Amino acid sequence: MRLLALPDGTTADPDAPHIRVDDLGLTRGDGVFETVLVVDGRPRELTAHLDRLERSARMLDLPVPARDTLERLFATVVAAWPSPGEMAVKVVCTRGAEYGDGTPTVFALAFSIEPHTVERRRRGASVVVLDRGFDPEVVERAPWLLLGAKTLSYAVNMAAQRHAAALGADEVIFRAADGSVLEGPTSTVVVAEGRTLRTPPASSGILPGTTQSALFRAAERAGWATKVEPLRVGELAEADGVFLVSSIRKIVRVHTLDGVVLPDATALWSELTGLYEAEYA
Ligand code: PLP
Repeated sequence: MRLLALPDGTTADPDAPHIRVDDLGLTRGDGVFETVLVVDGRPRELTAHLDRLERSARMLDLPVPARDTLERLFATVVAAWPSPGEMAVKVVCTRGAEYGDGTPTVFALAFSIEPHTVERRRRGASVVVLDRGFDPEVVERAPWLLLGAKTLSYAVNMAAQRHAAALGADEVIFRAADGSVLEGPTSTVVVAEGRTLRTPPASSGILPGTTQSALFRAAERAGWATKVEPLRVGELAEADGVFLVSSIRKIVRVHTLDGVVLPDATALWSELTGLYEAEYA
């Protein structure tokens, strides 16, 4: 099931062509996006997602529509979606047609969440650590690399996913050139050590995660300590739990890392999932 909304507040046929062949989002990946989880008609962390969309757009010098237009896109798809439960909404803003009048291309596509995504939340994932090929110290020096922007240029992220699948793994954790943990191709890494949650900082060239932020908020309220600080790859295997978190996958426990089975973190996963879900009860 899919549903398409346009900035003027109308819906359109998601199977009909809408994008010009010279759209710079299509030909150069020149644009930004966000994917938001909606549960029973309520978008989760919408403000944080729209803040991040605007932050990414600033990094690309990309004009994006005003907040109320973006919010209207969400309201349109949420109102038109026929069933309760979960759905995902992907908002895309590109630089528009190369030979056009400069108008950005903007749309929101709502879609059902795949059963295997739901299943993975329960079963957990096997993960391989793969090189991302940059040193965190390049982030400040080379802003044109757009590290930490959620751009449409996700071909590298998808290639890493395919590489993991070829190795028989479900997911990826990227490693920086200095051996520190970055993020997954579409997720944030969170580890539990005792009653402390840790995640790497956005300043290392990764996306600041809205789910990680919501989870930390919930965990702090329940008495957990939280730390945003560099994490070494070697620390993953020593943690009480390693998790990949994102809006659509929610919280996924890593049960196997580079072929080595990690200590069972099912109870921790249940506790953290309970805290995260209670944020939206
Ligand atoms: N890091 C990357 C590269 C992502 O693409 C995503 C989401 O797709 C995340 C982290 C997790 O972000 P969020 O929790 O806001 O969905």
